[in-house]
Amino acid sequence: MTDTFKAILVSRDEEKKQSVDVVQLTEADLMEGDVTVDVEATTVNYKDGLAITGKSPVVRHWPMVPGIDLVGTVSKSDSPAFSKGDKVLLNGFGVGETHWGAYAQKARLSANWLIPMPKGLTPIQAMGVGTAGYTAMLCVMALEDAGIEPSTGPIVVTGANGGVGSVAIAILSKLGYHVIASTGRPEESEFLTSLGASEIIDRKELSEPGRPMGKERWAGGVDAVGSHTLANIIAQTNYGGAVAACGLAQGFDLPMTVMPFILRGVSLLGVDSVMQPKEKRIEAWGRIAKDLDLKKLEAITTVIGFDNIIETATNIVDGKVRGRVSVDMTK
Ligand code: NDP
Repeated sequence: MTDTFKAILVSRDEEKKQSVDVVQLTEADLMEGDVTVDVEATTVNYKDGLAITGKSPVVRHWPMVPGIDLVGTVSKSDSPAFSKGDKVLLNGFGVGETHWGAYAQKARLSANWLIPMPKGLTPIQAMGVGTAGYTAMLCVMALEDAGIEPSTGPIVVTGANGGVGSVAIAILSKLGYHVIASTGRPEESEFLTSLGASEIIDRKELSEPGRPMGKERWAGGVDAVGSHTLANIIAQTNYGGAVAACGLAQGFDLPMTVMPFILRGVSLLGVDSVMQPKEKRIEAWGRIAKDLDLKKLEAITTVIGFDNIIETATNIVDGKVRGRVSVDMTK
């Protein structure tokens, strides 16, 4: 008898109506790739929520096994880069969008997308970080490359209770930055302070249309929100500062003027996690293992099982998930 394994499959009918089912697959069903992986852990990112709910066109190949992040053990490899038994990690590269992804107990992938499991992290911890946390690290590295350091001044983090925001706060505070957290959930202030936020501001201060330039308030920012929020944090960035932009939780528009760029020399740093080259990924994950307090990661992370993925995906799109979610695929 052929071995089967469970998976979440997102399908579309002729009228393009989306449905989500838990199905049994065999290895023969998997897409092409040179490495087959037994998936041990995954996560639910905002993007996975969009894929499962169909709220945004994340899925571009039908049907699709969603899930953009995974950790697992290689069960078969036709690539010299990996051997059976190797522990590997994957973020992005269109997995869960155009190639079947993490929400199955097995995945067949390209060796080019995989990196060795970072030392010092368990599968559940690494998926507690996931694409959201790895993107937070990329944002911090982008600020550093732009010359920002703790002595330069405070850093504002938007979407503070979300995955990118909460990990960014934890990393920045461990590195010694004064972190200003912007949130729409002030009731979670204690949580944000425990992560290392020194100040908390209401996101309403930043989310409405603002002036082209405002009073200088911070040396830099990590923005997961976009739209007026990003425009306002740039307009309130100190002379010579920099803002790393990675998200669009408020919107993908950017209604602002060039004034902060041409009068204050502020830099806007675009951060993409999906197509980062392998060396940068390995560097970012090495930095995560070193610069993220694992106790804080534990405080941010909720561990769920396979059966809770679909419900959590809906909750994350509704803004009801705090911090990060790690999925134990063996449960
Ligand atoms: P989460 O859903 O975990 O967090 C987003 C946070 O943004 C929420 O928790 C909330 O924080 C805030 N927020 C939500 N809606 C609004 C709104 N309308 N206005 C202002 N703030 C809002 O998502 P992630 O942290 O995983 O991802 C954040 C963003 O980054 C997403 O847009 C995602 O697509 C993007 N992203 C981009 C990547 C890239 O490669 N560039 C990689 C990973 C993520 P609070 O309640 O504290 O206000």
